[in-house]
Amino acid sequence: MTFEEKLAQFAELAVKVGANVQKGQTLLINTTTDTVEFTRMVVKKAYEAGAARVTVNFSDGVIDRELFDNAPVEEFEKFPRWIAEQRDELIERKGALLWIDAADPDLLTGVPVNKLSTHQKAAGKALENYREAVMNDKIAWSIIAIPSKAWAKKVFPNLPEDEQVEALWDAIFKTVRIGEGSAVENWSAHLERLHSRADILNEKRYAKLIYKAPGTELEVELPAKHIWQTGSSKTPDNTEFVANMPTEEVFTLPAKYGVNGFVSNTKPLVFQGNIIDDFTLTFKDGVIVKAEAGVGHDLLQEMISADEGSKYIGEIALVPHESPISSSNILYYNTLFDENASNHIAVGAAYPTCYEGGSELSEEELDAHGINTSITHEDFMVGSAEMDIDGVLPDGTIEAIFRKGNWAY
Ligand code: ZN
Ligand code: ZN
Repeated sequence: MTFEEKLAQFAELAVKVGANVQKGQTLLINTTTDTVEFTRMVVKKAYEAGAARVTVNFSDGVIDRELFDNAPVEEFEKFPRWIAEQRDELIERKGALLWIDAADPDLLTGVPVNKLSTHQKAAGKALENYREAVMNDKIAWSIIAIPSKAWAKKVFPNLPEDEQVEALWDAIFKTVRIGEGSAVENWSAHLERLHSRADILNEKRYAKLIYKAPGTELEVELPAKHIWQTGSSKTPDNTEFVANMPTEEVFTLPAKYGVNGFVSNTKPLVFQGNIIDDFTLTFKDGVIVKAEAGVGHDLLQEMISADEGSKYIGEIALVPHESPISSSNILYYNTLFDENASNHIAVGAAYPTCYEGGSELSEEELDAHGINTSITHEDFMVGSAEMDIDGVLPDGTIEAIFRKGNWAY
C-alpha cells in the first residue's frame, strides 16, 4: 500500500468510523495549520459521504504561543464567546465534530502556570453545554492525530530530522489499523473484540478493583449500576461513532467516594502543552489528599484544583500491556496514544453513560449517586508489565483480572 493510499484510508476512517458523518449533516473540524493538506482530504471525504456543510477552524501553534507569552493573565478569564456559540449551534443542528490533533507536546513549556489555569477554568465554564453533550454522547465526535514536525521530533529525537515525520506516520498508521486490507473492515472486527471484553466485565458485576504495582496500591469501588463501555458509542438517533482513534480500552466509572490508596504514573502526561511526570496521587475516601510530581509539580496542583471534582477520579480504563500500541514501545507524548497503551485513570468528570440511566441524571443527581462531575477530565497512565489487578465479586470472592499487565482471562 502506498503512502497516498494509506492517507486516503485514514481520511475515510475519520469520516466513516470516527465521526461517522451522515447524509445532510454538518461537520465541524478543529485542527491546526500543521494538517492543512490532510484536512482538505478529510473535507472531500466528508462531502462524498453526504455532509451538507463542513467548517474548519485552523489554529496555529506558534500564534497560540504568542498569545500565552504576551497576553496579560486577566485576558485568559475572557474565553471567546464565539467558540462556545459555534459548538452550541453544532449541537443544536446534531452535527458531528472532528479533532485533528498535531500538537507539539512542549508547545506551552515555560508559560506561567496561572495563565494556563486561568485559561482552563474559563474554558471549562464557557464550554459547559458542549462538555455535557460530548460526555453524554449527544453528538458524534472523534479525535485523531497526525504528525507535525515538532511532535515527530519529540517522539523520535534520535532519528535524522528528515525521517522523523515519516516514522511517526508509520507508527500512527499501525495504531489505527491501516496497512492491510480495508481499514474500515479492520475496525469493525476490532470494535467487536472490545465489545465482547466489555460484555464479560459487565456480567461479572465487580464491587471493587484492587491495583498492585511498584508505586501503586489502590482500591477502587465500583457502583452497583456501573457499565463497562468501549471506545465506540451511539448518539440518541443510533449513529455509532468512535471518539478516539486509536482506542484499545474498556472503561467504567468508580464510586466517587470509594477510592483509597496511592497510584503512580508510568508514562509522562502532557497537560496544557507541558509535561507532568514521576507523580504519585494518594486518595482517602475518593479525594486526593497528596499529589507529588518530580516534573511539573505546580501544574499537577493546578490540574487537581480546577474545581471540587478535579480532586476525585471519574474513569478507570483497562488496556492490556501487550496492546499493539504498547508493543511498539514508542512514547508518543500524546494522551490519545499513550492512554491506549496503558491502564489509565482520569481525574475529573465521569462519563454518565457508564452508569445505568446516568445520561438522564442532572449534575446534582449524578453527585447524589456518587458519580463525579467536574469541568476537567484528564487521563493519566498507570499500567505497566508489573501491574496486577484483582476484582472483588459482590459475594466477596477475589479473582485475578490482570496479571503482569495483561488480562488474566
Ligand atoms: Zn479512557
Ligand atoms: Zn478518559
